[in-house]
Amino acid sequence: MNEYAPEGPGESIGDGTRAVRAGLPEVVKNEPPLPGPVFAAHFHLPGDVEGPYAYGRDTNPTWTLLERAIGELEAPGQDVHTIVFGSGMAAISAVLLSQARTGDTVVLPDDGYQALPLLREQLEAYGIHVRTAPTGGDAQLDVLDGARMLWIETPSNPGLDVCDVRRLAEAAHAGGTLVAVDNTLATPLGQRPLELGADFSVASGTKGLTGHGDLLLGYVVCRDPQLAARVRGWRKIVGAIPGPMEAWLAHRSLATIQLRAQRQWANALAVAEALGDRREVSGVRYPGLTTDPSHKTAARQMRGFGSVVSFTLPDRAHAQRFMAALHLVEDATSFGGVRSTAERRGRWGGDAVPEGFIRFSAGAEDTEDLVADVLRALDRALDPAGQDC
Ligand SMILES: *Cc1c(COP(=O)(O)O)cnc(C)c1O
Repeated sequence: MNEYAPEGPGESIGDGTRAVRAGLPEVVKNEPPLPGPVFAAHFHLPGDVEGPYAYGRDTNPTWTLLERAIGELEAPGQDVHTIVFGSGMAAISAVLLSQARTGDTVVLPDDGYQALPLLREQLEAYGIHVRTAPTGGDAQLDVLDGARMLWIETPSNPGLDVCDVRRLAEAAHAGGTLVAVDNTLATPLGQRPLELGADFSVASGTKGLTGHGDLLLGYVVCRDPQLAARVRGWRKIVGAIPGPMEAWLAHRSLATIQLRAQRQWANALAVAEALGDRREVSGVRYPGLTTDPSHKTAARQMRGFGSVVSFTLPDRAHAQRFMAALHLVEDATSFGGVRSTAERRGRWGGDAVPEGFIRFSAGAEDTEDLVADVLRALDRALDPAGQDC
């Protein structure tokens, strides 16, 4: 059998070793190490309904391998259930809508991902009460009473506040409240929510997990088989499934997650430090900066601080000049990819951010090239007339 399978060395190997082998099937002579995507709506099923694969909305062998891989990264050496989805929002909706019933209360962050307010509307339409509180200062502790589920997003997107997952989970569990953590920003390499006490680790695989900006994916990992069964059942009911090609691309991309993350995290820190020296830049946030308000809590519970840095330029026009002057950084939403991206977040509306607020995602470029590009664009943006020189 394959020594690197889930029942293998678990914690005893490093992240890079785990990543390149995660989810690979047993070695079979003349078969590829990572079998290609299985394109099948249905599988041969003579006689009684038995075996793992019958219909492509329920199960697919390409998902099975990817689910194993993600589970190994989120909770090395542990017995967990992983369910992949067609997007991060599909995974988030599946957890909330499969667990909460009419009359239940759900606690959300009020500074989380920008689609959470849309989800809130849907929950309320089903008669589910929603309370919100900020991520910072563990403020969700104050509104937990009697809730069915606490939803945590740490670090939060786009403000990069961090809350103490262990502390919140302990308080929630004492009151019978389930805990889910959105692990998108950190990725499983940066943070392992189940080890911090969460019942669910949920994320968009669209961002740093897969890192190439070429697919959408979501996933849910949890220990409890009954909770997992509800989430899996939800996927089947609403059909929020990933395509086999996306699932295979995601698995292929996972092999390099440690390489990508190391470079991206180092680049994010270097950019954050360079920004700190600039007079026109305010509000630099990066949990890896020792001066960041999130740093102490982040350092206790994170294994790496992620690829996203946020900061604020004096006004909208200044931020637009900065964005236009960048050469190595693409103006695009999303984050976590191998090519740096940034955007003036206020252009979307919805997030409570200043007009000059920039969300910056460090890619895998050489650090000195990226920092030089950012500094050059900042210089250029200081001079409103100098755009075309
Ligand atoms: C992008 C994102 C999502 C949604 O993921 P999709 O794959 O776009 O559906 C959820 N949570 C966070 C924190 C995100 O950044």
